[in-house]
Amino acid sequence: MSDFATIDAKVRAGTRLSEDDALLLLRHPDLPAIGRLADLVRRRRHPHGEVTYIVDRNINYTNVCVTLCKFCAFYRRPGHDEGYDHPLELIYEKIRETKELGGVQILLQGGHHPDYDIERYERLFSSIKANEPIHVHGLSPSEILHCCNVSKLPLSQVVERMRAAGLDSVPGGGGEILVDRVRKLISPLKTMSDEWLGVMRECHRQGLRTTATMMFGHVETLEERVEHMRRIRDLQDEAGGFTAFISWTFQAPNTEMTDTPMVGGFDYLRTAAVSRLFIDNIENFQASFVTQGIDLAGVSLAYGMNDMGSVMIEENVVSAANCECLANIGELEKQIRAAGFAPRRRNMFYDRVDEQGQVAQRHHDPFWIERSGHADGRPAAIEEQFATLQAGA
Ligand code: SF4
Repeated sequence: MSDFATIDAKVRAGTRLSEDDALLLLRHPDLPAIGRLADLVRRRRHPHGEVTYIVDRNINYTNVCVTLCKFCAFYRRPGHDEGYDHPLELIYEKIRETKELGGVQILLQGGHHPDYDIERYERLFSSIKANEPIHVHGLSPSEILHCCNVSKLPLSQVVERMRAAGLDSVPGGGGEILVDRVRKLISPLKTMSDEWLGVMRECHRQGLRTTATMMFGHVETLEERVEHMRRIRDLQDEAGGFTAFISWTFQAPNTEMTDTPMVGGFDYLRTAAVSRLFIDNIENFQASFVTQGIDLAGVSLAYGMNDMGSVMIEENVVSAANCECLANIGELEKQIRAAGFAPRRRNMFYDRVDEQGQVAQRHHDPFWIERSGHADGRPAAIEEQFATLQAGA
């Protein structure tokens, strides 16, 4: 049986928390005490007083989708008047603007478009690399599996071909809650839990780093939140490829679940802090200023978060649900300083980068180095940047 004092002692001793411990914390009334514990763990893992962020742009290449998730305000069915599919030229233009603003990657995600097979994705990635090279943090497990289905190809081959064409890393989109009871209620046509985890496992096996996400505050129970975190922790024990854990709260407006009461800042802070305490094998935890606003994201830096996420030059998915808490670089850095930290720009691998996006200081992730057979490899473009920097030093 868990109690707060025992959990406190476990955290101080660096002992892994059980699912019962996490559940007790999610129900515990003393939010500041949970925050202090999460802060202690963050300081242990990140002792240099820095909070990172990335400058990037979300490019949602199409909003056409056949998967019809009930929580999604972004998609349009095939044939809908407001459906779009960006031409390559428009994508290049968006990347050019991103690079001019010091952006280091694009987050390339879209709907499950019935025409997107492997050849289409290969064209997309390789033409980006040929015309406007940039780190492509792209798709999500469910888009990758959709591509397998459209192309009638096995997962390993699809990941291999996408990687060869220019996919550099994979965001954890579509994680929602990794419990099939929940997924059947909110997104019955989408990947189920084992499939989502299976794609991530295959990506890690092939040397592609990914992030892990959790969208909470809808139909899930607290036990199911804990199960989600446990499944992420288990896969990280096995494969080690997650660079960060990012949680955010469900945004109901304009979705089929518009009547669902949305959770507030207390629940966000508590859940974010518990994720830092329970998932002890992922280095980085991102604040969600897009759903919580910049001020609460600043507060979350005292609840275990060490990264402010991305200065998004463009965001289309949660803004479709009337949630438009965007921030520019100045506002983000001001919030980080106000919380008592030094702001640092980064890339996907948490290397520190300068204002032009060049790698200034390399970062080594202990979990990846320990578990991966891929050593500490980066995509070729980053390796080149780093070699140039060393040659000039
Ligand atoms: S969340 Fe993704 S898969 Fe689901 S409807 Fe929206 S765009 Fe389609």
